[in-house]
Amino acid sequence: MKKTTGTDRDVTAGWRPATRALRGGTWRSEHGETSEALFLTSGYTYDDAATVAARFAGEAEGMTYSRLQNPTVGMLEERIALMEGAEACRAQASGMAAMTAALLCQLSAGDHVVAGRAAFGSCRWLVDSLFPRFGIEATTIDAADDAAWEAAIRPNTRVFFYETPANPTLDVVDMAHVSAVAKAHGIVTVVDNAFAGPTLQRPMEFGADVVAYSATKLMDGQGRVLAGAVCGSTQFIEEVLLPFQRNTGPTLSPFNAWVVLKGLETLDLRARRQSENALALGRVVEGRVPRILHPGLPSHPRHALAMSQMDAGGPIFAFDTGSREKAFAVLDALQLIDISNNIGDARSLMCHPASTTHAGLTAEVRAEMGVTEGLLRINVGLEDIADLIEDTERALGAAGL
Ligand SMILES: *Cc1c(COP(=O)(O)O)cnc(C)c1O
Repeated sequence: MKKTTGTDRDVTAGWRPATRALRGGTWRSEHGETSEALFLTSGYTYDDAATVAARFAGEAEGMTYSRLQNPTVGMLEERIALMEGAEACRAQASGMAAMTAALLCQLSAGDHVVAGRAAFGSCRWLVDSLFPRFGIEATTIDAADDAAWEAAIRPNTRVFFYETPANPTLDVVDMAHVSAVAKAHGIVTVVDNAFAGPTLQRPMEFGADVVAYSATKLMDGQGRVLAGAVCGSTQFIEEVLLPFQRNTGPTLSPFNAWVVLKGLETLDLRARRQSENALALGRVVEGRVPRILHPGLPSHPRHALAMSQMDAGGPIFAFDTGSREKAFAVLDALQLIDISNNIGDARSLMCHPASTTHAGLTAEVRAEMGVTEGLLRINVGLEDIADLIEDTERALGAAGL
């Protein structure tokens, strides 16, 4: 394998996000293939015993087993690290594998975590249900309340964990502020960047230490595979994450890595067009419902902050219809947009968080997060915006909105 384009950091330092997403981390075999090769292999063979001994001793570079390294997965890791502006990245089997590994690899019994309360349901489950079983304490806060971070710190606080924009209420966190508070107290900041993706928002530019992804969402972007990634410093990835990952095994399949590599080639294009479509559709919905939340709309409580952190508002917005009946009536009247709980997809998808993605939480937790019975969340896709507007207007009309 020759590391051909996008692997020399002196060259790639000047590349913009769209170029990084397309060209980063390309390795080529002796055949000089244009598209990345797919290495479906679990193991490797060696010319002699000394070579394998040196690799196992960490004295020579090279593959030993696909739980630890694989060329196709390696290309994806190099590309995501480059896009993120991170020293290193490890791919994971799913977004939740990424969140679990990024947090558990650095936490022990007796540690304390401060987490944003508006979060993906499974991220809340890690914090609320899994951590306490292992003696890890957690405090959930309103992540958009700047003062709440410092106020929640205890002597044993090790990690800050949040999403921005957050699922499903699109809360926006002041990343530079939270990173500064964390640094002043020796706390590691872990950001779940699934909603924006690395072409629209790079949390490390705002001081985040670790960025974790569901690559299932915008990075694949075409609803095909589950995948995840964790980015950080070389020291964090090699010394903290890797011992956890290599022995617990949340490894990404080379096939799924290859699919995500193909998805990344169009990520910048899709994320921008989907953001444009979301903004245009959001403007239509805005006049007809009691409340809408999209970081790109001036009505968002942290619109200015969001626009200083993101290149565009992203493909997702949420809006309140007033009641569960109205929300269901909107969903049932859709003819083009699918009822589906996925996000980041090129297809427009709408869901009712209170009965799906956030159904596992108690009514109190949902209320605290702003997940009302009338709330709908939409991932706006790449369809013609005129068709999306027609379908949405008809559905709102059917619900009396
Ligand atoms: C989807 C999602 C996850 C989980 O990712 P999977 O790939 O489905 O495991 C985590 N965080 C956020 C914000 C998500 O949207």
